[in-house]
Amino acid sequence: MKAAVVTKDHRVAVVEKTLRALEHGEARLKMECCGVCHTDLHVKNGDFGDTTGITLGHEGIGIVEEVGPGVTSLKPGDRASVAWFYQGCGHCEYCNSGNETLCREVKNAGYSVDGGMAEECIVVADYAVKVPDGLEPAAASSVTCAGVTTYKAVKVSGIRPGKWIAIYGLGGLGNLALQYAKNVFNAKTIAVDINDDQLAFAREMGADIVINSRNEDAAKIIQQRVGGAHAAVVTAVAKSAFNSAVDAMRAGGRIVAVGLPPESMSLNIPRLVLDGIEVVGSLVGTREDLAEAFQFAAEGKVVPKVQRRAIEEINEILHEMEEGKIRGRMVIDFTSK
Ligand SMILES: [Zn+2]
Ligand SMILES: [Zn+2]
Repeated sequence: MKAAVVTKDHRVAVVEKTLRALEHGEARLKMECCGVCHTDLHVKNGDFGDTTGITLGHEGIGIVEEVGPGVTSLKPGDRASVAWFYQGCGHCEYCNSGNETLCREVKNAGYSVDGGMAEECIVVADYAVKVPDGLEPAAASSVTCAGVTTYKAVKVSGIRPGKWIAIYGLGGLGNLALQYAKNVFNAKTIAVDINDDQLAFAREMGADIVINSRNEDAAKIIQQRVGGAHAAVVTAVAKSAFNSAVDAMRAGGRIVAVGLPPESMSLNIPRLVLDGIEVVGSLVGTREDLAEAFQFAAEGKVVPKVQRRAIEEINEILHEMEEGKIRGRMVIDFTSK
């Protein structure tokens, strides 16, 4: 079967690979599609260490073809996902307290174990979340990473119906955050970006206020127009967005960090203490978060914007990503042949 594998010289080669036999508790998926994520770019470039020989892909969706001994949670014919959170140890304090994505022994698909950017993929059945009926595979692939990450972030923000949430960065992640915030949590939404196209799309998706922070002081406008936001989700990869989010909060507001700029943010300590501002990080989501995120997408509350591509185009797609040319989500389609 074909697989997109990381090479020594930091490229991706589409090679023939043979899967090993299934072990206890595992299942084999025939892949339908797999989204391409910014994280794949980091993995390929060796930013997280050497991954030569690893099959990329943590936004995979496939149909179960075969299950190994002891599998009860999946059966042939089920549609299931290959997510970044591939497997936890199952017995540490994080795994046992609803924080399994923080497990120190975690395995990540397309990074520490072979992922879903291949015609077939082995999953640990109990960790592969099923995709509900009514959600087509390409949309499901986006929910597997971008969707669950933003759904979880909005959940962590503690936003309540009718309250104001600011979304910083309206790319692939932010756009989904906006849809979850608006259509699932019934929040009032503020979209902040420096790109007019992304803001136009955010408005189309129902953002109540849109602000181009290249020309305007987003925090000032948010304070003036709504008295400060109750929460913010920052998907932007710029330190300035994080700093603006702090200034945009009303007292008691919570900022959820999702984007990963390589710098530190400025935090005014008196502001933090006197106004009770909280800043928290949020990383992907648990299996339960993913099941919930899938269900809301299946109900049509969230619609990812996807474009189908062939596996042979993978280096081209990663190049477009590096150049910042990608709008929406690129999804490798394994069904079109
Ligand atoms: Zn991803
Ligand atoms: Zn664990």
